Amino acid sequence: MIGIIASVGVNGKNHRNDVLVVQTLLKAKAYPPGPIDGVCGDATIGAICKFQAGFMPYPDGLVEPGRPTWMRLCAVGGHAPVPARLLEWQGDSALWPAEKKLRSLHPRLRPKIVAVLAALKKRGFQPKIFYGWRSVAVQLQLFQRGNTKVKFSFHNAQKPDGTPLSYAADIVDSRFGWDAMAQSSGFWKALGEEAKKERLYWGGDWAGFRDWAHVQLVENSELGRIKKESGL
Ligand SMILES: [Zn+2]
Repeated sequence: MIGIIASVGVNGKNHRNDVLVVQTLLKAKAYPPGPIDGVCGDATIGAICKFQAGFMPYPDGLVEPGRPTWMRLCAVGGHAPVPARLLEWQGDSALWPAEKKLRSLHPRLRPKIVAVLAALKKRGFQPKIFYGWRSVAVQLQLFQRGNTKVKFSFHNAQKPDGTPLSYAADIVDSRFGWDAMAQSSGFWKALGEEAKKERLYWGGDWAGFRDWAHVQLVENSELGRIKKESGL
């Protein structure tokens, strides 16, 4: 059983033997840490960050015993059918906790959604994200049920490594969902107003198919580019 005694990386204890173990594991997982010399330099920290980017929105460059980065680093099976970085993003994203839905958003969208939610709360509503990111598989189900007009949406955008990077969020009042009360209470209108204060595009403005709960970071004309960048 391999192990490390103390932390390795940014502001870590960086004991020589621990650094050697981390460097060896990084190399085995195809994240080159520079020379395997027991010295934690820029190349090793860079490799830790790259490795963390597969499952953390904000890599901190630090490996600590017993913590998630270490657990993933020493997990066996580099050729598992579902890569470790994608495991946590499996399943029905509508059921994720609010914090995880926020993490599934594009970093430029995230603070705007936080601001919209806070503003709506201030106005007496009980807003929540229904969907942040969702997989292409879920999108196809929604398409087949007639809940959406598109097979690829801004919700499906992802980084080239397959982890979420949603350009859109669906926001509802947790008391109303999509019921008539969402309209008569003024929730949809308020959502549109607060979204626009954050320079977001609101689905309630669209002619024809009004997508009341939907807000997105960029214009509809960007969809093709974002699909390409997602590798889809
Ligand atoms: Zn939407």
